[in-house]
Parts: sequence; C-alpha cells; structure tokens
Amino acid sequence: MAKKKTKKTAKKPPVEKNPPKEDSSLVTFNISKESNFSEWFTKIVQTAELADMRYGVKGFLVYQPWSTIAIKKMFDLYEQELDDFGHNPVIFPMVIPESNFQIEADHVEGFTPEVFWVTTAGKGDILEERLALRPTSETAMYPLYSLWIRSWRDLPLKLYQSGSVFRYEGKSTRPFLRGREFIWIESHNVFATMDEAIAQTREDMQISFNVMNGRFGIPFIQFQRPEWDKFAGAVHTYAADTLMPDGRFLQLPSTHLLGDKFSKAFDINYMDDEGESHAAFQTCYGPAISRIFGGMIAVHGDDSGLIFPFEVAPIQLIIIPILAKKQATKVKAYAEELKSLAKAMGYRVHIDDSDRRPGDKYYFWEMKGVPLRLEIGRREAQEGKVTIFRRDTREKTLVTRSELKTTIQEMGANLDKSIKRRAQDFFDSRLSRADTLDELVEQIKARKMVKIPWCSIELDGEPCAEEIKDQLAGAEVRGIDVKEKEVPSKNEKCFICGKQAGCFVYVGKQY
Ligand SMILES: [Zn+2]
Repeated sequence: MAKKKTKKTAKKPPVEKNPPKEDSSLVTFNISKESNFSEWFTKIVQTAELADMRYGVKGFLVYQPWSTIAIKKMFDLYEQELDDFGHNPVIFPMVIPESNFQIEADHVEGFTPEVFWVTTAGKGDILEERLALRPTSETAMYPLYSLWIRSWRDLPLKLYQSGSVFRYEGKSTRPFLRGREFIWIESHNVFATMDEAIAQTREDMQISFNVMNGRFGIPFIQFQRPEWDKFAGAVHTYAADTLMPDGRFLQLPSTHLLGDKFSKAFDINYMDDEGESHAAFQTCYGPAISRIFGGMIAVHGDDSGLIFPFEVAPIQLIIIPILAKKQATKVKAYAEELKSLAKAMGYRVHIDDSDRRPGDKYYFWEMKGVPLRLEIGRREAQEGKVTIFRRDTREKTLVTRSELKTTIQEMGANLDKSIKRRAQDFFDSRLSRADTLDELVEQIKARKMVKIPWCSIELDGEPCAEEIKDQLAGAEVRGIDVKEKEVPSKNEKCFICGKQAGCFVYVGKQY
C-alpha cells in the first residue's frame, strides 16, 4: 500500500489531537502494524473510538465506552485474582499532605519531580499545607497502617485500591501507554518477616502471570531491575516487560520489595507474641490497567484493526442480519431470538441493525476487534442455523442453533489460545543473544531484545549502562530475567568495562 500523505512530520507524530471526525460507517482499517506501528496505534485509538485526546490538558485522556468497558472487565479479573490471593480492597484519598509525602527520603527524591501539587482552594486561599495528587500511595496509606497494625495478629495485612494516580511525565505522552494520569491497582502489603515479604513479591509475579498472560494473552519477561532503575525507596524492583510490535519494551506491572525502609520511616511496628516490638516488612505492587490495555491491543491487533481476547471484549458477539427484501421480518426476528439466547448464556452481544451494507458492517466490527460475528441471512433463519466468523483466523463455521452454546464457548477459548500463541511467537522471535558489542549493535538495530553478559546490576554497573545508552541510541539494560538459569563462563566479559561478567541481562529500547 502506498504511504498515505499526512501533514505530520515523520519524527514526532502529534498525538494530542484528533483529526476531524470521519464517517465511521465508511472505515476500512488497513495499516501495517509491524512496519508502521506508530501510525497503526494512533489511528486505531481514534478509529475504534478508544480515547478522545481533545480534552485539552496534556497527558490526560478521555476514555470512550469501547475502551472503558474492556478496562472495567480487566479490573474485575485483576481484582478477583487479588481477592483470591487474600487481599482486601480499600479506598484512600487522592491527596497526600506534603508532610506525609516527605517522610521517606529516597521516595521523596525519586517522586518529587513528578508530583502535581494542590496549593490553593476556594477564592484563592493558600492551603496551610500543600497537598500532593497521589503519584502512588505509599505515603497516603502507611501513616494509617502505623495505626492499624499493633500486634503480630494484625499481620499479614494485604490491601489494594483501584484508582487514578498522577505523574508529571516529561516525555511525550501517548494514549494508554504513557500519560500524566493513569488508572491502576496498587497493592500494599505488610508482614512480620523479610522472608514473607520476599514470598509476596513472588506471589505478585504469579498474579501478573495468571492475569496478564493467562487472561489477556500478553507475553512478557519478569526482570529484576538493576539497582539504578529501582522504584524510589525499594530494596528490589521486579518488573514485567512486554514488547511492542516495533521491538520496544513496554513496562507492565512491577512489584517492589520495600524491606523495612518504609516501616521504619512510618513507624509500622508490631508486637510479637512475647511483647517485643519490631519494624514490619513491606511490599507493593502496581498493575497499571490503562497501560496494560494499551499493551494488549498493540500485541493482539492486526492490519485490519483490534482483536480483543474473548473474555475482555466490550462486545463478544456481534449479530449481523442480512436483510434481503424477502423474509426480512423473519431474519430480524431470528436475530433477536439469537441475541436473547446469547445474552442468557451471559455474553455481551449486540445486533447491528443499522442501514449500512453488510460488508461495511463486517469491516467496522472487525476493526473494533469483536471476537465472533454471527451472520444471519435468509437461509440461516429458515434452517435454524447461524454462520459464525472468527476475527483472528477469519474462518467461518456454519452451526445449528442447538450447537450455538458449545460452539461459542469453544471458538472463544480457541481465539484466546491462538492470539496468545501468536503473541508469544512474535515475542520469542525478537529475543536474541550477542557475544560481542558489534553483534549487540546489529541486533538492537534489528529491533531485538538482546541477552548479553554483564558486569553487575549493582550500582558499580551503572556507568556501563550509561555507556550502552550513549553508544546504542538509548538502548537500556532492563535487568536479569528472574527465571535465568545460565551463569556466565570465565571467558565471558562485560562488553563495556571488560570485567568478568557476573550475570546475563537483557538490553533493548524502551517504549
Ligand atoms: Zn561493565
């Protein structure tokens, strides 16, 4: 396809504006996701009506119904998983008094540049104390934790909340993927021992896997981040990275081992069974659902538009009645009947009875990513059958009404399986390994995520990471794969400092 002429400059597509609204009935989405991911993403957000960027405040997004319904579903699945692992929900205020915010020094240093402050109220009264719009809620929740936790009987305490956080992001923003407000879940946990806290970070990684991979079909590697790239105030940070179609890393949920740093700062102590007081140990975990949504649509979509996993699709089944003049009433009635049937089975189903041509309807709902399409014409209505189209494979299957229930179930499950497989295959195809700096340079150019021998992820490795960034146009050391089994041999050296390699890390460009 010839490249479309646009007014945008090639380097930085302005993503803050929507073009004039097009007549969506005429849309045929046809953009190569792999060779032109940036355009694909920008266009699909607009065409599928996921978000409106015209709110007028940089980095703040209006979520439209088509994304909101899916995101709510994603929240449900994530919260359910947290509940199953023994967490309880809470709702804390969105503002944090500055004095609370200032309590843990590393945290303050890391987050201060990103904070929005509320300073005045009413007719311009200056607030006695500035209030931070929460960039994350450690400093909102932990002063209360200090009051709630008295003895070992109060532990473990495992709470989470769902809501917005605000960060004054300096880089250019991108709908869902990077903004100044994002919607997420944050879980904050307290334990009597460090071992239990460490076990919690492993449980968090398991939750990430169960939900993001198991339910949303997103492949990723779970990394231990280098010392210089940790959450502000954490002992260790473990973060999941997936890959965008252009070969860049996208950071997904991270879990942080906080040790007793915050509990000492916030006086979160407990009395053991002999009446002795101890500082507690903590972890926190933050799946950003808005970003996971962005990652999910990028990973699964194709050149015709979105493909939603069956479970989170805003509409799972779209019924298209094909109304020839003869028997139009019968077809309509049959469509309604199938809709009621599907609804009773618990599916999100909709009939497109607009006056667009069937072909236009097909394109439209394919672009919107609806997993299954039920086509109903005269023949289907007469014979009590239905033709089902599967969005990912584009296969059509003719089934009888009595087979509908099992067929939908199977096709939905198979769609999920196959888009997950395809995403994993793409992900794996981007992994590589380099034995020399030249090889690394080549492979980063080829948009790979590259495993290399590395001196150290402690602070003494940071200058080498800076050097990599300079020499490889911004490529970053992402950390050690937590499942890594390989230990460097004696002749494997860090490409930069030449020291004996202490570990293997992955290097790539970040989104
Ligand atoms: Zn080095």
